[in-house]
Amino acid sequence: MRAFFSNSNVIGEKRHMNKHDIYRGAVGLTKAALQIDKCDDNVIKQRLKICHDCEHRTQSKSASGNIISRCKICKCFIKAKVRISKESCPLNKW
Ligand code: SF4
Repeated sequence: MRAFFSNSNVIGEKRHMNKHDIYRGAVGLTKAALQIDKCDDNVIKQRLKICHDCEHRTQSKSASGNIISRCKICKCFIKAKVRISKESCPLNKW
């Protein structure tokens, strides 16, 4: 988990996370991992495509070398966020 909360490895951008960002990210990751409030697979695919093409998506590398996509606006982990039915895009793109 520590790697997810690092603020120094965002590709092309230095960003800082506050406690609220960390809490929100942890809740999202937990819900996605436990499949709580999980969306239909087609909805997940549609949301992922929209986020993938969005100018507010950022990418960072974890300590293990995995690429992690996050939303610059809400700071959520996109892979987790799109799976949770009660989540929404802060810019109403989905
Ligand atoms: S949640 Fe919305 S603003 Fe954030 S990356 Fe996805 S489409 Fe863009």
